[in-house]
Amino acid sequence: MGQPVAGNPSQFMMERSFAAAGLDWRYLTLEVAPEDLAAAVAGMKAMGFRGGNFTIPHKVAVIPYLTRLTEAAELMGAVNCIYAEEDGFVGENTDGKGFVSALKEVIDPAEKKIVLLGAGGAARAIAVELGLNKAASIEVVNRDASRGRALAELLSERVGIESKWTPWNGTHGLAEDTDIVINGTSIGLCDGSAMVPVDPSTFRESMVVADVIFNPPQTLFLQAAEEAGCQTIDGLGMLVNQGVIGFKIWTGVDPDPTVMREALEEYLGI
Ligand code: NDP
Repeated sequence: MGQPVAGNPSQFMMERSFAAAGLDWRYLTLEVAPEDLAAAVAGMKAMGFRGGNFTIPHKVAVIPYLTRLTEAAELMGAVNCIYAEEDGFVGENTDGKGFVSALKEVIDPAEKKIVLLGAGGAARAIAVELGLNKAASIEVVNRDASRGRALAELLSERVGIESKWTPWNGTHGLAEDTDIVINGTSIGLCDGSAMVPVDPSTFRESMVVADVIFNPPQTLFLQAAEEAGCQTIDGLGMLVNQGVIGFKIWTGVDPDPTVMREALEEYLGI
C-alpha cells in the first residue's frame, strides 16, 4: 500500500516468485490515501491477508494499527513490511535487512568504517541494520542538520556504535581509511545524469561502494567508483533481498532470488 503506487515493481516481482515456487498466492498493489489507512489495515485483517508492504506515505503512519514492532522497526521508527500473528499484525522493516544481505555477498560490515550519504528513511534503515551487524563506525553525511544529527545520535545512543554527523556542503571528500561507502540519498533516481556530490578522486580501490538507487541501477556514482577500481553494489540487490525476506516471512518458503532479479529487470526494462 502506498500513494502513489503506479510503476511500483513489487507485485510483478512477487507474483513471478509465487508462480516459480508453485504457490497460488496473490500480491496486490493498492493505492490507499492517508485518511483511509486505518480502514485499509482493518480490511486486511478481516480478509485474512498474511501481510504486506507499506511505502510512502504510510511507513510511520501505519504503526498505531499494529500490535507490536520488531527491534529494527522500533529503532528506525518506520515499518515497510507487516505480517499476521494471531491477534493482529507485526511491524518489521526489511529495507535495511535487504541492503545488508546484498552487502554481505561482497563484504561483512562487522568492524568496518562506513560512510553513509543521506539520513532519510532508507539511510536510517540501512544505518540501524549496519549497527545491529556490528559496524565499527558510521559517518552520516547529510545536508539537513536535524536529520543528520538525529541519525548519528540514534546510532551512538540507542544502537551503541560510534557515529557522527558531517555537514554536506559542496563536494564531500572521503576519508582514506573508509571501508564501505553508501549512497543512501535519492540522487540519481530516474536520472542517469545526476552525480552524488562526492569527490571521485577520493575513492580508493580498497573501498566497497553501494547505491540504493535501482532505476537506473548503473548510476554515475557507481560508474565513478568502478573506474577507481572499487567493488560496487547496485540498488537492485537491496530491492531483491528485501523481497526475499518478505516472501520468506509470509510464506515460510525461500524464493529464488534470480527469478526476482530477472522479473525486476524485465519490469524496469533494463
Ligand atoms: P527520503 O526523502 O526520506 O530521504 C532522501 C535523502 O536524500 C535525504 O537524506 C536528503 O537529504 C538526501 N538528498 C536528496 N537530494 C539531495 C541532494 N541534492 N544533495 C544531498 N542530499 C540529497 O527518501 P528515502 O530515504 O525514502 O529514499 C531514498 C532513495 O532510496 C530513493 O531514491 C528510493 O527510491 C531509494 N530506495 C531504494 C530501495 C531499494 O530497495 N533499492 C529501498 C528504499 C528506498 P536532506 O535530509 O538534506 O534533505
